[in-house]
Amino acid sequence: MATAAELDTATVFVGLGGNLGDPVRQLRTALAELAALERTELTGVSHLYRSAPMGPPGQPDYINAVARLHTRLTPEALLDALQAIEARAGRDRSGARWGPRTLDLDILLYGDRRIGSARLQVPHPGIAARNFVLYPLAELAPDLDIPGLGPLPALLARCPPAGLERLAERGE
Ligand code: ATP
Ligand code: MG
Ligand code: MG
Repeated sequence: MATAAELDTATVFVGLGGNLGDPVRQLRTALAELAALERTELTGVSHLYRSAPMGPPGQPDYINAVARLHTRLTPEALLDALQAIEARAGRDRSGARWGPRTLDLDILLYGDRRIGSARLQVPHPGIAARNFVLYPLAELAPDLDIPGLGPLPALLARCPPAGLERLAERGE
């Protein structure tokens, strides 16, 4: 039988991305920091992907990955922790929306929760349109049913992998 502590544990998927500095290194450092978070276990990491940038033109390509966590942190506490990791990677938030960055960590899914607060939207609103999220996510959870969006295979079928390249290495 599950203990009370286990019942409080959520499966979370986090999207990682970066296109300034040494993104592969920044993603690897971020994964190590995710693994070290209190009340949290890192239970899976996708391959690394190279993706064409969205947002302002003229940016370097992105490196992306998705990580799976089991955590007892609340969604808000997890967001605080992710933003602290971004800050340690030198994330500068002063530029244009979707402009180049050293590290972006987004909560894609937090169990089957749907959250719509000023700070936090879960599932992440960009999931369905972003191949650099959907393809790495499918490595970790191919049959996932996303709250409000439906089964992952149907989302993949509507989001071709144009501009997306899976790299040889995994994120860990
Ligand atoms: P996008 O969210 O479209 O990928 P972005 O990642 O570049 O854009 P950020 O500058 O990293 O956006 O974050 C802006 C704000 O988004 C954060 O301060 C945070 O409060 C909010 N936010 C809302 N939902 C989420 C989420 N699911 N994960 C991370 N941040 C979120
Ligand atoms: Mg983002
Ligand atoms: Mg973000």
